[in-house]
Amino acid sequence: MNRPREKECLFCAIAAGRIKAELVYEDDRALAFRDIRPQAPVHILVIPRKHIPSLNEIGEEDRELVGHLLRVAALLARRESVALSGWRLAANCGPDAGQAVDHLHFHLLGGRTLGWPPG
Ligand code: 5GP
Ligand code: ZN
Repeated sequence: MNRPREKECLFCAIAAGRIKAELVYEDDRALAFRDIRPQAPVHILVIPRKHIPSLNEIGEEDRELVGHLLRVAALLARRESVALSGWRLAANCGPDAGQAVDHLHFHLLGGRTLGWPPG
């Protein structure tokens, strides 16, 4: 389930630089870029370079990677000046949650009051 699908996967293509995105962070394991249809003043997608389809497929071997993604999100919240005003990290998993891209991604949302519960 974790096999690379670079040819078919939009976010693998962004990670490989074949499709442009407004990158705000990258390292050897993760990258982050602005969402093409922002739902808040700050709307960044934090993804692993590794193709993992969703939270359902996170393996034991991915524990450190997922922890790293959370730390990248917190770093970016500080950089985007929403660490103190507040921000949300959301991962849609599967059809009922409206997951549209089958490559694990965390939405970092901030810069406005965020309603709860989400729709
Ligand atoms: P999901 O619904 O899967 O949780 O979120 C997918 C997100 O990817 C959506 O918020 C959508 O706007 C964003 N998105 C889809 N295609 C692109 C793209 O080509 N570039 C960027 N930067 N974001 C995209
Ligand atoms: Zn992918």
